[in-house]
Amino acid sequence: MASVARLGGLVLIAALVVGEPVSAQSGPPDRTEGRRIEARRRPPGTNHIGRAFEFVPVAEGVWQAVGTGTMGVGSNAAIIVNETDVLVVDSHTSPAAAWVLLDELRRITPKPVRYAVTTHFHYDHAHGNQIYGPEVEIIGHEFTREMMASGASRRGPAYDGFVSFVAARIAELRRQVDTTADPKRRAEARGQLLRYEQQRIADRAVVPTPPTLTLDDRLTLVRGGREIQILFAGRGHTGGDVVVYLPKEKILVTGDLLQPRLPYLGDGFAADWIETLGRLEALDVTAFIPGHGAWFSDRSVIGRLQAFLRDFLAQGTAAHRAGLPVPEAVRRMDFRAHLAGYPQLADTADTYDRLTIGLTRLYQTLERRP
Ligand SMILES: [Zn+2]
Repeated sequence: MASVARLGGLVLIAALVVGEPVSAQSGPPDRTEGRRIEARRRPPGTNHIGRAFEFVPVAEGVWQAVGTGTMGVGSNAAIIVNETDVLVVDSHTSPAAAWVLLDELRRITPKPVRYAVTTHFHYDHAHGNQIYGPEVEIIGHEFTREMMASGASRRGPAYDGFVSFVAARIAELRRQVDTTADPKRRAEARGQLLRYEQQRIADRAVVPTPPTLTLDDRLTLVRGGREIQILFAGRGHTGGDVVVYLPKEKILVTGDLLQPRLPYLGDGFAADWIETLGRLEALDVTAFIPGHGAWFSDRSVIGRLQAFLRDFLAQGTAAHRAGLPVPEAVRRMDFRAHLAGYPQLADTADTYDRLTIGLTRLYQTLERRP
């Protein structure tokens, strides 16, 4: 199934169409064309009011696509427009969101998307992949392919939390629509209700679609005058996060490895993550495009996350050694030193849940459980 190819001295493993993007069972005789048409068909859950994305320019031909809030899109995407084609980093939370991104992309370029990088397997970055036809190479780490192929993007506390959050929002917004007298507020609640109802419909249409071209170290694309490096710098937020580096433009697309806010810890490798961030710090970068939050130039964001992870690892390891069960350990942990950088660590139920998921994961890695 996998073949090894060499491109410019770089070894990459091409996994040949692992899981076809979209079924072609009932297509016309020309199966390739049939698949393409199928892949372009509007998926369920795309209804929304106004524009779904804002395209924020970062450099010539490089954009951050940020959801406006009229549609549930999950993560940001990064758009890299090359001489003849386009590379998109991450595909959002559903085929509907990915489809609308492609539709709105025409505002900034008429060129076709030929590459779609999946930074990691999480649903909010990878669940739009099925929208791409066979003319698009979906690129990701070998680990990401394995996780998506085994259904991991639809399991675990992050995905389960998302599904129950959407259900709770729908129930609450329905209540607001029924009980709010003020016409303006009721219209707002209706708009948000549409968003979450559509998001639930869109999620139910997801067929997890793993990368079709995988790497385990690095892969370089040269497209016209642009060099695009897809790098695995080590385990971190998951076991297979890749970053996209433009050395000439000094831009790094970081997925969830590095964000202005505290990333999700539930699939992480805290000890490796600290070192991986150190390797990213060695790159010449003036603009970071994260999977969540606005793009930034402030390099201290790297040290801030490393400092938190070191502390989290130290406190968590000590609690594990002392034999403390996770709930008790979380109650004793103290991250007030990091509050200025991460206000979401304030003493709330949400923080408690976040740390519980993170510490459960740390215990797993300390006990070498998968
Ligand atoms: Zn993630």
